[in-house]
Amino acid sequence: MSAGTPAARAAELRELLNRYAHAYYVLDAPLVSDAEYDRLYQELEALEQRHPELRTPDSPTQRVGGRALDRFEPVRHAVPMLSIRTETDIGDAGASNFDTKVRKELGLDATAPAVEYLAELKFDGLAISLRYENGLLVRAATRGDGEVGEDVTQNVRTIGQIPLRLSGKAPVLLEVRGEVYMRRDDFDSLNARQTEAGEKTFVNPRNAAAGAVRQLDPNMTRKRPLSFFAYSIGETSGWTLPARQSELLEALEKFGFPVSSERTVARGAEELVAFHQRIGELRNRLPFDIDGVVYKVDLVEQQQKLGWVTREPRWAVAHKYAPQEEITRLLNIEIQVGRTGALTPVAKLQPVFVGGATVTNASLHNEDMIRRKGVKIGDWVVVRRAGDVIPEVVTAVVDRRDGKETDFVMPETCPVCGSHAMRAEDEAITRCTGGLFCGAQRKQALLHFASRRAMDIEGLGDKLVEQLVDGGIVKTPADLYKLGLLSLATLDRMAEKSAANVLQGIEQSKNTTLPRFIYALGIRNVGETTAKELARHFGKLDNLVTAKEAALLQVQDVGPIVANSIAAFFAEPHNVEVVEQLRAAGVHWTETEPAEQAAVLPFTGKTFVLTGTLPSLSRDEATAMIEAVGGKVSGSVSKKTHYVVAGAEAGSKLDKAQQLGVTVLDEEGLRALLARGPEQE
Ligand code: NAD
Repeated sequence: MSAGTPAARAAELRELLNRYAHAYYVLDAPLVSDAEYDRLYQELEALEQRHPELRTPDSPTQRVGGRALDRFEPVRHAVPMLSIRTETDIGDAGASNFDTKVRKELGLDATAPAVEYLAELKFDGLAISLRYENGLLVRAATRGDGEVGEDVTQNVRTIGQIPLRLSGKAPVLLEVRGEVYMRRDDFDSLNARQTEAGEKTFVNPRNAAAGAVRQLDPNMTRKRPLSFFAYSIGETSGWTLPARQSELLEALEKFGFPVSSERTVARGAEELVAFHQRIGELRNRLPFDIDGVVYKVDLVEQQQKLGWVTREPRWAVAHKYAPQEEITRLLNIEIQVGRTGALTPVAKLQPVFVGGATVTNASLHNEDMIRRKGVKIGDWVVVRRAGDVIPEVVTAVVDRRDGKETDFVMPETCPVCGSHAMRAEDEAITRCTGGLFCGAQRKQALLHFASRRAMDIEGLGDKLVEQLVDGGIVKTPADLYKLGLLSLATLDRMAEKSAANVLQGIEQSKNTTLPRFIYALGIRNVGETTAKELARHFGKLDNLVTAKEAALLQVQDVGPIVANSIAAFFAEPHNVEVVEQLRAAGVHWTETEPAEQAAVLPFTGKTFVLTGTLPSLSRDEATAMIEAVGGKVSGSVSKKTHYVVAGAEAGSKLDKAQQLGVTVLDEEGLRALLARGPEQE
């Protein structure tokens, strides 16, 4: 067999597809995207059609799924679990080709009425066969290779949506077939839990579901939130089979199975196309993944007439949607500097068509995320884009590495302005400390500086700031005070009159207060309240600029994180320079003497957590009441929490408080406590 011949290519495709199918079906760890698998599969199928002599019994086109794992007991399916023919040609041709073929094989001429089809969703999960004897679930099996599956009864019993006993009058024997899947929200929370536990996250809901069903320990399956939809049956006895697929689904519902309500009986190709379109629009709003729709001839009598070929029935076809996952090359990881100075690693991808758009960039969020996903520069990666959701790099395809891949290293300085990049100990994000000096942060910083509660510069909005920064006219807030009528009037949409108004706004802003000025600087973690406290405590700006972290910690409400942000901000010489320039330009305020050591309030040092809905106080009101007497309100319950205030619908925070023995109060209790003061320790 010489290289480059159809025989060589067929052998190569068989080898690849068999390897991919093994990874996908048996190991639940795919090496390539479904779309790539489908492409290769179709190439092989076409090749075999042109050269039937190349069709071997081990060809993936001749088999269903993957071989059963021998760690499970084998289960022989009396009625084989087949695959479904896939039409990937996007558009309407899929439905009409199928309809034409069905009509021809049923011997219907042009005058015969439209064929009726049951159109339903193609769930992206794992096929399961459930055997009920006299109404009781006795066995659950995976599809395996279609003939022999794996006994996963103990695991499947843990899935709440699968009845252990049928409702109503049960047949002597009924095998129900359907899909075990994971809802997207369940998948997200599972992955969040995995991340928290420092464990590997799952690539997609399908893999998570398949992996969960094929666990050796049912207790592991129990921890994975699985759902189920029934869509057909296998062996049965002691029961009259409904005459239509649609009636079968109704019967399954009566037996107590979840059946998706997104189904319809469509007459002829046109109605199939309409269903395909409608579901296509709905797809991203469904709470679970589908990869297409399935059309099945509705009349069982017609199904029987049509029969099946090697691995698929002739009476059904799957019509897939554009794939939401693809594999492509990660060419580089670049750093983008966001508005708050966050350095975000962005994947530069070899352009790939996925989820209906060409994707070239995808956020990698932060350093830890890259490590968790195990992605290296030069890797082949799985890219997912579902609907309008931003594209995501899901994982690396480790098996395709050639050793030239390199690890990503977070830069120590900001690529835009060269300032230090800093990552706080308990934060995942690395930030540029350049603040006002950093070009990428400039626009946001200027808008914040000019905002109503800061310097209150009228007329300085988004559009103008963008032009000023992009045109290189304004780099720092100090430059605003150097603007002249001429430079403003030449900008777009800036008639001379509005230019004069903006200049007047800038001029008026020079007369300000110290709290406004501190707030306007946009120091991370310094909001209006903290700015006021800082102004009161230090009295003069210079005292604040030179304050060490220990001195900052003396300020009411300033903890280590805030103190660190302030110190880091003034440690950057650029920031101090801008402050000087602003003062030189005439920005002024009245300075005062530093305040005496803040009076210690009765609840200083006490931490409260609010949960649930209080009968009369809003969350903000309750917070204000607590803060007024020196208490702090925190978001989560820990051993350091002093009081948990619980209202209606209080959730896990209340449970945690009870576990930890933290004092729990209702609204009345809170009012009483604040009035009488804390218990003495
Ligand atoms: P299939 O596409 O042939 O469809 C049959 C399966 O669809 C059934 O077994 C069932 O699990 C499921 N299904 C969902 N909704 C259904 C419904 N309403 N009615 C009937 N069945 C429904 O599935 P297959 O044979 O398991 O696999 C082929 C697909 O698997 C390929 O198209 C490919 O995308 C994917 N695959 C991917 C890889 C990979 O490496 N990424 C490898 C092998 C297979």
